Amino acid sequence: MSIFDSPAFAGHEAFHAFHDQKSGLKCFIAIHSTALGPAAGGCRRWVYASEQAAIDDALNLSRAMSYKNAVADIDLGGGKAVIMAQPGEARTTAQFEAFGRAVEALGGCYWSAEDVGVSPGDLAHARKWTKYVAGLEGHPAASGDPSPVTAEGIRRGIALCVRRVFGSDLKGVTVAIQGAGHVGAYLAEKLASDGANLVIADINAAAAAALAQRTGARVAPPDAILEVDAQVFAPCALGGAITVAALDRLKASIIAGGANNQLADSEVGRVLYERGLVYAPDFVINGGGIINVAAEIRALERAEGLDPAWVETKLARLMQTLDEILERSRIERRPTHEIAIEVAQARIAAGRSSKS
Ligand code: NAD
Repeated sequence: MSIFDSPAFAGHEAFHAFHDQKSGLKCFIAIHSTALGPAAGGCRRWVYASEQAAIDDALNLSRAMSYKNAVADIDLGGGKAVIMAQPGEARTTAQFEAFGRAVEALGGCYWSAEDVGVSPGDLAHARKWTKYVAGLEGHPAASGDPSPVTAEGIRRGIALCVRRVFGSDLKGVTVAIQGAGHVGAYLAEKLASDGANLVIADINAAAAAALAQRTGARVAPPDAILEVDAQVFAPCALGGAITVAALDRLKASIIAGGANNQLADSEVGRVLYERGLVYAPDFVINGGGIINVAAEIRALERAEGLDPAWVETKLARLMQTLDEILERSRIERRPTHEIAIEVAQARIAAGRSSKS
């Protein structure tokens, strides 16, 4: 199938492929929309099963970034980069420098940041070649790793869902967290301090064990996390965790976590709604990190320092938007993800028409 006919490409403005012969870097940068501003979204480094899988991931993630940035009410469009790592290949400075040149070649229509498999240290190498990377450290506008702010938004979103469903705070509520990486770990620490009971699972057993020791969480095998007797399931690993088969095994009645593209497809969102589950749409609840990144871009463009109060205002407003989406779902008797997509698409369409 040609890229123009592929469902993943639908609605995209552009798709770029880069190959740096010397460093071996192979990466894709997808630009879904620049209607609300330059496209922004992290860079993922991953070993993909095929080139097609990497292309589809870049396209699906960049669409999600458009929706996320629109719902977060930041002046950014949506884009995403994926670096195709080879099995066992070490990360190199040369590859991230080549990635910086790829971003620079797009002339500022795409801003990059961290995502799975990419750290602020990696991006510092890219920054030698382009100013269009954020989520950095060591300068007055720098916002650092976005994961703590992502996790803070998820914590507040979980609290909001728990209040709606159980009428309680987080004390004594059991949350099953899938993924003990950056977001999962910060989230676990925050929820532990709120008095929640935690069960965590990670395919990296050492990461799960270390986090359990810090937070008092119980560790579950990765393939058993859905069946944990919990009120909340927080997917914080990779996308596609929510399938109909997964719903058949899931004990929790709330799904609220940090992973991007959690629903395997849109139909799953309808099925979970019909089963009475409450789903906090991923691109709404996990928008804290991109708000933090947006604060850095804003500060760089104004030649100012980072403004944490701006981040807090946007994060608080995002949680109000999440509450409004949950309320509309209740009143209109429709799945939350459908409403969230409508909210995002309306904001993007308004941005597009104000430009033309
Ligand atoms: P990370 O790479 O630090 O952590 C991901 C963790 O998930 C790893 O520890 C990995 O071993 C684990 N994992 C992978 N497959 C698993 C499985 N099947 N079961 C259990 N564990 C599994 O990544 P991160 O930065 O924490 O991001 C996690 C998710 O949140 C990703 O989907 C990412 O796109 C999304 N996200 C991250 C941010 C951010 O600020 N970092 C912002 C928004 C969304």
